[in-house]
Amino acid sequence: MPRKKQTSNPLTQLSEKELEQLRAIDERLRRVVQERRASLARPAVHAQQTFGSITFRYETVRCGKANCTRCPHGPYWYAYWKEGGRTRSRYVGRVLPENARAAHEAKLRAKLEKRKT
Ligand SMILES: [Zn+2]
Repeated sequence: MPRKKQTSNPLTQLSEKELEQLRAIDERLRRVVQERRASLARPAVHAQQTFGSITFRYETVRCGKANCTRCPHGPYWYAYWKEGGRTRSRYVGRVLPENARAAHEAKLRAKLEKRKT
């Protein structure tokens, strides 16, 4: 990095290219904030499977890092259940536990069978 003259405004020390990069970052930050707001209001649920008292949901998530370029992540499975009147959730992963997956697949098969008739 070449040394630059000391000035009062740090922005004036940036080259046109660096300013361009800064604007791009700013643009991206604003978009991430907007998307996060939207996702908080309306979380993206791609699939849902209730298994006993636990509901499994297949969702995309946002990590919350302002400089993340790979958001949303997933989708991943999350488990939701009630505990002492509160809704609890737990990250499951990319694949469901075997028994829950079997139930989900059975539901999908039933849906396909219904479509045929
Ligand atoms: Zn992310």
